[in-house]
Amino acid sequence: MILIVDDKVENLIALSKVLQSHGFENEKAHSGEEALKKALRKRYDLIILDVQMPDIDGFEVAEALSGSSRTSDIPIIFLSAVNVSKEFITKGYASGGRDYLVKPIDTDILILKIQTFIKLSQTQLSLQQEIEQRRLAESRKDEFIGIASHELNTPLTSIKGYLQLARVSLEQQRIPQTKLFLERSEKQVNRLNMLVTELLDTTRIESGKLKFHYQYFDFEPFLRGAVDNFREVYPDKHIVIRGDGLETVRVLGDENRLEQVVLNYLSNAIKYAPGSDEVEVDVSLPEEGLIQVDVTDHGIGIPVERQPHLFEKFYRVDEEARHFQGLGMGLYICAEIISRHQGEYGMTSEPGKGSTFYFRIPLVPRNIALN
Ligand code: ADP
Repeated sequence: MILIVDDKVENLIALSKVLQSHGFENEKAHSGEEALKKALRKRYDLIILDVQMPDIDGFEVAEALSGSSRTSDIPIIFLSAVNVSKEFITKGYASGGRDYLVKPIDTDILILKIQTFIKLSQTQLSLQQEIEQRRLAESRKDEFIGIASHELNTPLTSIKGYLQLARVSLEQQRIPQTKLFLERSEKQVNRLNMLVTELLDTTRIESGKLKFHYQYFDFEPFLRGAVDNFREVYPDKHIVIRGDGLETVRVLGDENRLEQVVLNYLSNAIKYAPGSDEVEVDVSLPEEGLIQVDVTDHGIGIPVERQPHLFEKFYRVDEEARHFQGLGMGLYICAEIISRHQGEYGMTSEPGKGSTFYFRIPLVPRNIALN
């Protein structure tokens, strides 16, 4: 959108028509004051500014615009009827203007200049967006390093403590106590191991080196096995598997990586549902050649505005992140695994009620190399 500013209505109308005939949307301002008001309210790609105007002249408008961060980078083309001296032109550039045209205007030249400015303005905008995106990614990474150091340090401190206690109990020949402390430190070692694996997987995804080993396997025993492994870690939780007609379903995929997805969905379903012990796993065949797994919890849920970001790297829902352990990498890794199986993933959630995370993969993905 271009703003044209001139105190003479006939000039405004003529210029507006020329711009319109070349496909440039434009708005008119009849005075310096009106131009300032408009430019502060709305973002223009370019301002074409008459120099000689009563009250606030074109240079003063340009100077005022360059003083505000919202408008200082808008390009300006000055239009002047006067016999231009070098000093006059210098003033135009010095007050923030970028170019200068003398009336009567050569419309071909004007259009060429406008096209150049608009292109520059668009390039600048996309560069700014890029910078902003990188800044966001950078600050997420910084925040992540902080969380990661804390998450790694916590089990390490516990392990140190439990091992000291185990040594003291052993010295006092209290074997059951020693065993208990060793078991507790083993649990913490497992947690540490999981965190480091997540970190390594994330790095491998970044460098395109996350390896997959595709093989045919029966889906139902695979899923039961994954859930049983999970039940061993959480014997007090109630995990229900539902689904019919799955006995003959065979899938071509990386069994270990898909188990990683199921375990991740399950551990989130437990972690983000402190008040509930029930998780449902539904398996279905939504279409010919596709299998879908839904993991439903009755936990805290996720606010609607956060839902689109969950599968992004390092993403954690702010308010919850402080109360629950995690690095915000689990779902990012799941997304990569599912995509590599040519599948889809997603979730639905109702804050305060619970969430369902699902994935859907083809039974036999296309062009997969068996190994
Ligand atoms: P984290 O290690 O933080 O759990 P994930 O990538 O697994 O990382 O999950 C990203 C974020 O998504 C979590 O921090 C959490 O805020 C949210 N989230 C994931 N699963 C659930 C769930 N079942 N219920 C509520 N929030 C969830």
